[in-house]
Amino acid sequence: MGLVNLHTGEVLRMLVFDTKKKSASAFETSLHDNINILAGELPAGLQLAGVGIGVSGFVFENGTVDSTYGFLEFMEDYPLAAIIEKKHQIFCRIDNDARLVALGEAVYGIGKDYERVLMLTLGTGVGVGGVVGQALDGRLPFAHMAGHMKVATSDVTCYCGKTGCLEALVSASGITALAARVYDQQNLSESPGDCEQIFNAALAGHKPAVDIINQVTAYLRSGIANYINIYAPDVIILGGGVAKGLKNRLASLHEPGLLGPYKGYHTKIVLSELEEQAGILGAALLFKP
Ligand SMILES: [Zn+2]
Repeated sequence: MGLVNLHTGEVLRMLVFDTKKKSASAFETSLHDNINILAGELPAGLQLAGVGIGVSGFVFENGTVDSTYGFLEFMEDYPLAAIIEKKHQIFCRIDNDARLVALGEAVYGIGKDYERVLMLTLGTGVGVGGVVGQALDGRLPFAHMAGHMKVATSDVTCYCGKTGCLEALVSASGITALAARVYDQQNLSESPGDCEQIFNAALAGHKPAVDIINQVTAYLRSGIANYINIYAPDVIILGGGVAKGLKNRLASLHEPGLLGPYKGYHTKIVLSELEEQAGILGAALLFKP
């Protein structure tokens, strides 16, 4: 949670706390307490415009969360905006977290000089958000599931019910699962470790880890080529924990010979600059006049 000055795009204060996943009442208490802490630190001369929130899953226009697909079990048809507004007597606006990360990065971060921005958040899943002209792309209100684009013939079943989803192959859990399969195929007795360890081993030239990251890069390259065909972004920003490991592989994420949507089309692929602040800034931007 953060306190943002919308005039300057500055995150004045950040609080990091665990999401209370077990019950709605514990979740709400934690949220209310932290809102009160930040509201108490509002600098003189600034007014609190409201509370902006990013959640996984789809959010209705009235601020009711449709579903978080099991991440927070109580958050099915959950009137989160109404709960915050009643408790704090302040406006609350909510949107999908991947969309808000994209908005923050497009307005205040590395995407600010581009017209069409596509952001992929590669972490526990693959979040997708599109921004056009520094506003959320209204033509794509339901594209938050675009991480489930099929990119491979694979027997790996995703929680969405399909096989070969980008999300199931290049998310942190997807990479560790792929590593387990590669180690099994190569009859290696040691453990590949977590996602960060696999990236580090690949950087050090450890052959099985290099094979794994080459495969992850190939899956992501297919996904990016598909997104280019659909969205034609001027820039693709990669964020989230997995993206950090891809720092030296950005050039290889371009599909060689991909036919662009128009002559002279070129998309840049870059890493997020704002990292965890992007989502906070994006949530605050829901209140930008
Ligand atoms: Zn899927």
